[in-house]
Amino acid sequence: MRRYHLAVIPGDGIGPEVITESVQTLVSLAVAHGGFHFDIQQFDWGTERYLREGAMMPADGLTTLERGGFDGILLGSVGDPRVPDHITLWGLILPIRQAFDQYVNLRPLRLFPGVRSPLAGKHPKDIDIVCVRENTEGEYAGAGGRVHQGTEDEVAIQTTIFTHMGVERIVRYAFEYARQYGRKKVTSATKSNSMQYTMVFWDEIFRQVAAEYPDVAHEQQLIDSLAARFVAHPESLDVVVASNLFGDILTDLGAALSGSLGLAPSANLNPQRRYPSLFQAIHGSAPDIAGKGIANPLASIWSGQLMLDFLGEHEAAALLMRAIEEVLARGQVRTPDLGGTATTRQFGFAIQEQVQSQVAQ
Ligand code: ATP
Repeated sequence: MRRYHLAVIPGDGIGPEVITESVQTLVSLAVAHGGFHFDIQQFDWGTERYLREGAMMPADGLTTLERGGFDGILLGSVGDPRVPDHITLWGLILPIRQAFDQYVNLRPLRLFPGVRSPLAGKHPKDIDIVCVRENTEGEYAGAGGRVHQGTEDEVAIQTTIFTHMGVERIVRYAFEYARQYGRKKVTSATKSNSMQYTMVFWDEIFRQVAAEYPDVAHEQQLIDSLAARFVAHPESLDVVVASNLFGDILTDLGAALSGSLGLAPSANLNPQRRYPSLFQAIHGSAPDIAGKGIANPLASIWSGQLMLDFLGEHEAAALLMRAIEEVLARGQVRTPDLGGTATTRQFGFAIQEQVQSQVAQ
């Protein structure tokens, strides 16, 4: 029996509600499958802790995660109207991404059968994009500062950092991903017409790496027109590789096109497995619906599916994906963001029931 040690951080807002369904789905899938088992350790890190103790996680939080022998980290969401977003983000998520060198942020975006896109006339075959977002440097490297604070001469500087190593490894991951998953084309999001240093550098490295993958088509497009293409011709996109900021924006757009922010998952990967990887829905803590029990848990459940795939449990991952597809296609149980009336618990239960019935077949 394969055993996986999971760290679970429910976090803020709807995080605890959706993570409960994600964990429940993984545990019941493991029991039904019979080939693997999860040992779960939960951490109460997040904004309540910050308000109580002045920090989102303990000073030795990263060490606890690193030395705890974890195979993966499942995170709900982080953010709370009582605390500025840059404090919550830099208090938990961004330090984990950087310290654990989770340089790949993998974000698949799909329109599922049974779900309506806000784009008129687009069908499931038209929206199936995998975004590979750089996750440790670029615009979110955290390099900068403010001087003369509080005076009228105040200056703020935030520097974008691209390293050769950082750009090359993310671009290479995108091409390797395309090869492994039978995808045909990698599109690079750029802005080298106006950013003549960083983005020209990004483009050069993209072309060098692309030349090593003659079996995968490649192209570059300016981020502004690429955003328009996401809306006008999503069917022309396959794998998209983007910097931290560009990938962040494109994937919220893509999530909306696929029917709801509540459907889009992400995997923050350290592909070398030197550190644990982290899996979380791309949505935030959604304070407007937190505590109401109506959040869509699918993005969190699908993030768990990405974790299964990363752990090498491909059979179980494929089974869970089929269960997600089946429940969405049937359309009987769905949360309000998808036009239904189901609660988070009912939607999660429908997936778990479908998993059980597929294993029994
Ligand atoms: P962040 O800054 O952390 O990305 P945000 O406040 O900008 O967060 P979200 O928390 O992602 O954005 O919420 C944006 C909108 O999407 C809200 O109206 C929220 O209710 C909705 N939403 C987000 N996640 C879900 C979900 N899982 N189910 C239903 N609606 C959701």
